[in-house]
Amino acid sequence: MPATSKLSKAILACRLFVNFFRIYSIFVFRNHKAKRLTLPDAPDGTTRNIVVVGANFAGYLAARIIAINLPPDSPYRVIVVEPNSHFNFTWVLPRFCVVEGGHEHKAFIPYGPHLNGAPVKWVQDRVAEVERESVRLEGSGEDIPYEMLVIATGSGAGDSLPSRVGATSKVDGVRLLRDMQGRIKAARRLLVIGGGAAGVEVATDAKSLYPEKVVTLVHSREAVMHRFGGELQAEALKSLRDLGVELILGDRLDTEDEATGIATLKSGRAVEYDYILNSRRWKQVRCIGQRPNSHIIAGLSKDSITPEGHIKTKPTLQIADDSLPNVYVCGDVAGCGEQNPNARSAMRKAMVAADNVVLATRGEPAKYTYEPFWGEAFIKLTLGMNRSVSHFGDGKTELLFFQKETDPALMSERTWRTMGVRPYEDPEFDLAEGGEGGKGRGT
Ligand SMILES: Cc1cc2nc3c(=O)[nH]c(=O)nc-3n(C[C@H](O)[C@H](O)[C@H](O)COP(=O)(O)OP(=O)(O)OC[C@H]3O[C@@H](n4cnc5c(N)ncnc54)[C@H](O)[C@@H]3O)c2cc1C
Repeated sequence: MPATSKLSKAILACRLFVNFFRIYSIFVFRNHKAKRLTLPDAPDGTTRNIVVVGANFAGYLAARIIAINLPPDSPYRVIVVEPNSHFNFTWVLPRFCVVEGGHEHKAFIPYGPHLNGAPVKWVQDRVAEVERESVRLEGSGEDIPYEMLVIATGSGAGDSLPSRVGATSKVDGVRLLRDMQGRIKAARRLLVIGGGAAGVEVATDAKSLYPEKVVTLVHSREAVMHRFGGELQAEALKSLRDLGVELILGDRLDTEDEATGIATLKSGRAVEYDYILNSRRWKQVRCIGQRPNSHIIAGLSKDSITPEGHIKTKPTLQIADDSLPNVYVCGDVAGCGEQNPNARSAMRKAMVAADNVVLATRGEPAKYTYEPFWGEAFIKLTLGMNRSVSHFGDGKTELLFFQKETDPALMSERTWRTMGVRPYEDPEFDLAEGGEGGKGRGT
């Protein structure tokens, strides 16, 4: 490696360290302010709702920050609307689509303890539509009035595995994951469509776990992981090839015929398969792009939605619509120009939005602002069951760190602890699954 390249990598590493230290010290500070333990009654008998729509990485954190910062005599209360029964830990979904052994329940973390006792009203439903002063629920049809609104609805790939679960209850989510594990195990020829992170992870896990299978990955671009730097692209390509995954680049799925087990690509090329991770029949199986869930605001502020589906925001993360200063947006659904939006940027946006909401409850103007930081776009990509690579890049220089992976459940345990839950205690799920520990559940 040339000396200039080594130097620029060293400079990048130093900038990364300094910036992460700065961001995470703010994170820890903002997250540990005074806590309240009971829900306040408004002095005049009315409560003023702060409604948070969506509670995964961004919304759950925003709800927590707002709730723990409301003073005891505050007339405000936080109401979360979220369809899922559990926090969905997306990072491990591709792994749990493939690996058996009873780990899949670890992708679903019980809600509650992360709020640290702060008062939050929880509504398990989906918002169908946002109006100027209320949100309408899809399930119950009820209108919930709001004085402030935080939209944190994220993005989804048609709500399907391996990127999203496609079920709102943990019991159903676990069943879908086990179902996919079984189908992959039974297939002799596995065809994966999409060479982004989810597709690469599923393909490398499947081939490293079942070397005898023919695993084919089809990607529409000339490089896998094309949204990232060239060094990561090259490493992913090498790892796929070393494992023996067959790669077809610059091509797309056109048709699939389950009766013959032949998929035809746009180029006319035919690929045999027993199981395809992009099936139109099994709609829950796709590894291709994600679209922001912004439609709920379309009736109220259509012009605030970008052609890509993001909600436009001001730097304060108020929606870019001057008539709606009380509507905040955070997480993946907020289009802030990040190179690769992820849970880290989603959570930092949540902190900014939540802090500005807290200021508004005190009658103060929004003062916190969000700017994307290139270091947050880093990704840890698994390359088979036992190895992973972490990638950082500022668009000019890249850093790759390789790691041995020893836990099939990857970072699940640490994430449960971060969410305040002892791994992997979930009595409600155990009960629903039929007995202590649940059926077929690993440790
Ligand atoms: C397979 C995969 C692996 C990933 N790996 C990593 C990784 O290793 N590191 C990393 O930093 N990031 C990773 N990401 C990205 C990360 O998951 C997202 O950036 C993050 O989930 C964004 O958080 P969010 O809260 O904005 O949105 P989401 O996590 O998508 O959550 C949105 C929430 O809103 C709810 N919702 C949606 N619509 C409505 C509605 N109408 N009403 C009420 N609620 C609604 C949903 O149920 C959901 O709970 C990965 C993503 C995927 C798909």
